[in-house]
Amino acid sequence: MELPRKILVGDNVISELGNFITDINNRISSVVIISGETVRNKIEDNIKKSFEKSHISNYWFTRKDASFETVSRIKIEIEELKPDIILGIGGGKSVDVGKMIAYSIRKSFISIPTSASHDGISSPFVSLKGSNKPHSIKVNTPIGILADIKLISEAPPRLLSSGCGDLIGKLTAVKDWELARDDNNEYFGAYSAYLAKLSADIIMNKSKELLLNEYGVRTIIEALISAGVAAGIAGSSRPCSGSEHLFSHALEYITDGNCGLHGERVGLGTIIMSKLYGMDFERIIAVLENVKAPVKANQINLTEKDVVQSLLIAQDMRPERYTILSKTKLDKKSAYELAKSAKVI
Ligand SMILES: [Zn+2]
Repeated sequence: MELPRKILVGDNVISELGNFITDINNRISSVVIISGETVRNKIEDNIKKSFEKSHISNYWFTRKDASFETVSRIKIEIEELKPDIILGIGGGKSVDVGKMIAYSIRKSFISIPTSASHDGISSPFVSLKGSNKPHSIKVNTPIGILADIKLISEAPPRLLSSGCGDLIGKLTAVKDWELARDDNNEYFGAYSAYLAKLSADIIMNKSKELLLNEYGVRTIIEALISAGVAAGIAGSSRPCSGSEHLFSHALEYITDGNCGLHGERVGLGTIIMSKLYGMDFERIIAVLENVKAPVKANQINLTEKDVVQSLLIAQDMRPERYTILSKTKLDKKSAYELAKSAKVI
């Protein structure tokens, strides 16, 4: 099991970043920070002051995208700086790029999310553009996670809704894992499965309150961190990613990424897969509506054809990951009927 050593969640904790790092290891004296430009403009002054107090030298890299090309380009420069640790600050891409670079130059990584849009914040997985694998790659679990609720609350609300979609996806991900255990004798980690399901259940049970105030933001970010930790405990993305994620990867593949946010697609996938499992998919629709996440394909500009096509190729995205789609042989007609009956199209 790989677990984070320190997690700090709270208002304005970003100004305590220096202390947070020296608490993890008091020999850390130099860091490399990776972020996007907007985030940098917003918080650089604040962070620099905190580093000054803790006597930590810092180098800032502004990344433009989250591709393998970007990773290999800035990795060389970063390695020459010989930092003690790598920090990724941002919505998802900077965290992924930072996590990947830290892994490839064998440094520890601290994750500092500025939005609560997916569970990559704390998991040992990254997804980068330009990979021939549409799904994520396993790296190391972040050693620390610092989540500033005030900062995350200022992100566009759509990102928060997307985070809820990614969390609700754990319901079908865990079902798929149970199915793989029962049909294929696959290893099943009861504890990590339970933890992942718990992070979905809290969204299911509190969906009406989540968008009302900062307590809701805190709940969502804590659930996302827990889900990522569940993947760290399992040593695989199994508890967090099943057929609903394969459907999302397929949508990305056929639309070349023009298909809404990760958690929005996962939410739609969860509606369809829960229908396939005979679960109460209407309740999942109601919860997604409560958190203002899309429940219809056209809300994220997807056509009926995109949905049907994605259902047909979803399992091919990762044939070795046994899911409900492995045993449900869909053709064009039955895929259409499934999406229609789940009210996604
Ligand atoms: Zn996800």
